Amino acid sequence: MKICFNQATTMKNSTLEKDLEYCEKYGYDLIEIRLDKLQDYLTRNTIIDLADFFKKNKIKPFAFNALEFITFRDEKGYQEILDNLKFLCEAGNVIHCKKIVVVPTFDVGGYTKQEIKDESVKRLTELAEIAKEYEVKLAFEFVGYPNCSVNRFDQAYEIVKTTDLDNVGIVLDCFHFHAMGSNLEDLKKADAKKIFIFHIDDGEDLPVGASRDDKRLWPGDGAIDLDQILLTLKEIGYDEMVSVELFRPEYWDWDIEETIKTGKEKTLNVVSKYFEF
Ligand code: ZN
Repeated sequence: MKICFNQATTMKNSTLEKDLEYCEKYGYDLIEIRLDKLQDYLTRNTIIDLADFFKKNKIKPFAFNALEFITFRDEKGYQEILDNLKFLCEAGNVIHCKKIVVVPTFDVGGYTKQEIKDESVKRLTELAEIAKEYEVKLAFEFVGYPNCSVNRFDQAYEIVKTTDLDNVGIVLDCFHFHAMGSNLEDLKKADAKKIFIFHIDDGEDLPVGASRDDKRLWPGDGAIDLDQILLTLKEIGYDEMVSVELFRPEYWDWDIEETIKTGKEKTLNVVSKYFEF
């Protein structure tokens, strides 16, 4: 298992340069780069500088986060998605980052699950066709909020399975899995190869549908049954990577180095019971 840092964890005060420096110092294998942090980095550096950094260091890029709200968009909104997709595919070709997280849309109105499935499959298929030209894979991340059009594991997995493309898979995020009461039995039936990215985090103990990203906690500090999720992943043969992804405003105010160091320690404490690093 490889350990990865997701830049959402230090989102408010850090930069890509700082996150990279401390992730390398504390021995992370991988980083998930945020689109906004990349755009900010490119105001001071070039994409070649970033490629050089990865050549000289142990840490490697794993994925970009994220193309948000890919479904039910108007023409202008969808064009922005397409533009960002091409930008990330081209950047990814230079730095060898071959996955992009894609997120379904919120508050879409009274569509049925079938209509949401049809729209999601259609958009994923269109975007995947472009990504394929760059040998890039798309990881579809359901969000465990009641108003997200795709908010449970079974629903997202069904969409990915129906899309039936080698370069379309799923993001399993423990917070989102827990927040809308996704079922472990559904994860047990999943093909590990379709799990492209695994986000680890914990959360405060709120009722189904009531939790939000700011209630995330370090792995092991909250109410999510991470042991059962990890055991299930082991059972189905998933062992590629685990990415620590918090969105807690309190942690954003911490010293960046302390946050990155703590993220690794907390993740290893929980995950190394089941996986070797
Ligand atoms: Zn996530």
